[in-house]
Amino acid sequence: MNCLFCKIANHELDAYIIYEDDLTLAFLDINPISPGHTLIIPKAHFLDLEAIDQPTLDNLMMVAKKINIVIKEKLNIDGLRLVQNNGSFQEVPHFHLHLIPHYQEKPTYNLEQIKLLLKQSI
Ligand code: 5GP
Ligand code: ZN
Repeated sequence: MNCLFCKIANHELDAYIIYEDDLTLAFLDINPISPGHTLIIPKAHFLDLEAIDQPTLDNLMMVAKKINIVIKEKLNIDGLRLVQNNGSFQEVPHFHLHLIPHYQEKPTYNLEQIKLLLKQSI
């Protein structure tokens, strides 16, 4: 299947991966809404919230909680938004959660600093 996120999950396409286990992968969004914007995907292909199975979704939410803790500690965020798009809201047709940090003051981190701060902390 010619799916972008399946290719990232199979390590056929590059992404900055911050977490990986048997079911789930988390990596930085290529076009972040804010510094540290992270995507969490199942390694198996599911289209959307309707299609994903419960154990996989539970694992993704467990990972979202882990990353929330790390991003809060390392990036000094003020808020965090969890977004999941379906149907006409969805661009990439492989289920994903967005973790979008919010900062009261514009952070000065660049991408390399974010990578360093998050590296091996999750
Ligand atoms: P959607 O609208 O489907 O919820 O959002 C898809 C997200 O995937 C967007 O935020 C977009 O920036 C991100 N994205 C699209 N292509 C790539 C890619 O090749 N690599 C990474 N890391 N993120 C991507
Ligand atoms: Zn896929």
